[in-house]
Amino acid sequence: MKIRPKKSLGQNFLKDNNILDLIIKLGDIKSKNTVIEIGPGTGNLTNEIIKKNPLKLIVIEKDNELAKNLKIKFKENIKLINQDILKIKDEDLVNENMIIFGNLPYNISTQILVKLIRSKILLKLCKKIIFMFQKEVADRIIAQPNSSKYGRISIISSWKMNVKKIQEINPYSFYPAPKVKSAILVFEPKKNFYKIKDCKNLEYVTQVFFNFRRKKIKKSLNILFGNYEKISKKLNIDFNKRPQNLEPDTYLKLCTEYEKII
Ligand code: SAM
Repeated sequence: MKIRPKKSLGQNFLKDNNILDLIIKLGDIKSKNTVIEIGPGTGNLTNEIIKKNPLKLIVIEKDNELAKNLKIKFKENIKLINQDILKIKDEDLVNENMIIFGNLPYNISTQILVKLIRSKILLKLCKKIIFMFQKEVADRIIAQPNSSKYGRISIISSWKMNVKKIQEINPYSFYPAPKVKSAILVFEPKKNFYKIKDCKNLEYVTQVFFNFRRKKIKKSLNILFGNYEKISKKLNIDFNKRPQNLEPDTYLKLCTEYEKII
């Protein structure tokens, strides 16, 4: 059956066998692993995952037409969830020893990543995540302080995970070829990470700072705490710095202070 890729659902199907092999290798799937694949599309990667005989394979595809085809193609080899990944409850995904794969729809890739980070349970049970992003987004995720690409998503990702960029991928590895380059990232959830009450508070605190990316942090400290001098003294922060100069740890401490006053 002929598939007409839908731009609105970010459908760029991976057709390069070398890249499919690389992604599978990075996953290192064992028989005890439950694999989750986000956006399986026509099933190119799904096919390779099945060959590795995971304990269970859950695939989440929003497109009804593609979901129907996947069911016909893979039958009982997959547990298909024909839904929007952003609307799925944690309970539908929770399994021991999870490995999560996704050649992600680029329009919602950071939302998918944040959904996993927000969850209080999913990353605890997950061994590894292998995601394909638009290169520019991947570079923002892995960016370090004092670089122009460093921002909210770098801070939020590094809070709970170690992230590694594996390789940049040429547009011609996909059908249809996207306008931009892509990149594969591997995430390994940290066993111990700094405890805050709610990820959404970290999202808010970082949003306030990075809304004023070029301004001194004095301004954002005032917005959040009413008095920049008191809080910067308490946390030993130089209030003349700019948002991109603060380490992720400092944002976590600021989040803790913010959670005390809300
Ligand atoms: N994995 C396939 C491959 O590599 O050839 C397809 C990848 S394509 C970049 C993204 C896939 O995610 C498409 O199949 C698209 O229909 C699906 N998708 C888009 N938005 C989604 C959503 N909100 N929830 C679940 N799947 C979605």
